[in-house]
Amino acid sequence: MFKLYNTLTRKKESFIPLRQAQGKLQKKKVNLFVCGPTVYDFPHIGHARTYIVFDAFVKCLRQKGVKVFYLQNITDIDDKIIARAKEKKTTPKKLALLFEKEYLKDMKNLKIDSVTKYARATNNIKEIISQVERLINKGYGYKIKDGIYYDISKFKNYGKLARRTAQQAEDGVSRIDKAKEKRNKGDFCLWKLSKKGEPKWESPFGDGRPGWHIEDTAITEKYFGQQYDIHGGARDLIFPHHEAEIAQMEAISGKKPMVKYWIHTGFLTVKKTKMAKSLGNFITIRDFLKKHSARTLRLFILKAHYRSPVNYNEKLISQTKKELERIDEFIDKLNKVKNKKEKEEKSLILKTQKDFEKAMENDFNTPKAVAIIFELINKGNSLIDKNLLSQTNARDILKLLKKIDKVFNFIFQSKKKEKIPLKILELIRERRQCRQEEKWKVADKIRKKIERSGYKIKDTKDGPIIKKNL
Ligand SMILES: [Zn+2]
Repeated sequence: MFKLYNTLTRKKESFIPLRQAQGKLQKKKVNLFVCGPTVYDFPHIGHARTYIVFDAFVKCLRQKGVKVFYLQNITDIDDKIIARAKEKKTTPKKLALLFEKEYLKDMKNLKIDSVTKYARATNNIKEIISQVERLINKGYGYKIKDGIYYDISKFKNYGKLARRTAQQAEDGVSRIDKAKEKRNKGDFCLWKLSKKGEPKWESPFGDGRPGWHIEDTAITEKYFGQQYDIHGGARDLIFPHHEAEIAQMEAISGKKPMVKYWIHTGFLTVKKTKMAKSLGNFITIRDFLKKHSARTLRLFILKAHYRSPVNYNEKLISQTKKELERIDEFIDKLNKVKNKKEKEEKSLILKTQKDFEKAMENDFNTPKAVAIIFELINKGNSLIDKNLLSQTNARDILKLLKKIDKVFNFIFQSKKKEKIPLKILELIRERRQCRQEEKWKVADKIRKKIERSGYKIKDTKDGPIIKKNL
């Protein structure tokens, strides 16, 4: 049984899918929505953290037989997109399409392939307008000069997710709309009337574009209905964004809660400050992958708990690479075990699997799960060194690691066999020659040369192993 920390109740709760709780059929069907990107620039590794966490989370649930519909929105119309398009002398539509493509490319490179559906805001304008209309009809929406706004004083439970009151709402941290004629300072925009030259869609309340919060609820109502299982995102979205979503959807439907479990990921920080576009302290996924592998980022992210802050620096990335090397060496060794003697190490394998599952079911405790993998590596290595691991057991361990890697995607390297350049192969040959002739000093010089070229050489009893620096 999964246990999840729910931001709404501030408690770890047993995960019971909505359909199961309502006694419906297909009780293992779960709807999950995670806030997607605003496509005006390249995403950074702070964004990657949230998407890697939910990718592994969904894969883990699916491995348990839960049928997850994983939905993500794409904010492809927004003030930032309009402003950036102006700067770049292009149209907002072209800019959004370009960065949507780049976002999907980054996700693919990070092996994030669990999303069932990406839904663009601009493909759901009809649904958005319908929600704004219903909010006006119920007395929550009102019109002023520049758009339709939501009157937060009308919604009794405003602040229940972020644990704030309507009066505190005015100190909202992001994207609270500034119009002067608003009834309450914390009122947020549902529909923005277009100024000259801005993108616009026709609506009964005037030509304009959707506010930010309304696109999520319109999209989830369309695909999931008015109530669903899990909503995720980075923790800075709790207020005002997710609070606003609750206010919109629960006001329309009269049903609560809109979402049963709210899951929020912690920040990626640089020198204790949150990595953010606005602060300029970010590294794009693109730039990260120029220097390091996707599996480095996946391990780096998943060895921390998703709710804790993760501090980023190059030293910690090097440490992660060393951990990956230990994994690679272990897998190499397992593949070479030829011991036919039947040794009973079944208990080690079974225990590892059980402990791993227990860790994952306990609020997705990936740091514990990663530690369990390294415990297995330590024990396995010592058995192999003493020639105490049989080939059958080695294969069973490989099988278990493959199963775990369907969730983690950092244990096995991609299938592409690395091609070692001729120049390096030549140096290796020369070095072998020198070693045979006991010219140790020259051999050592050649080794250093190989390392300077970005390769690592390790001598084993079966000959040298060459690897590119990760
Ligand atoms: Zn969102």
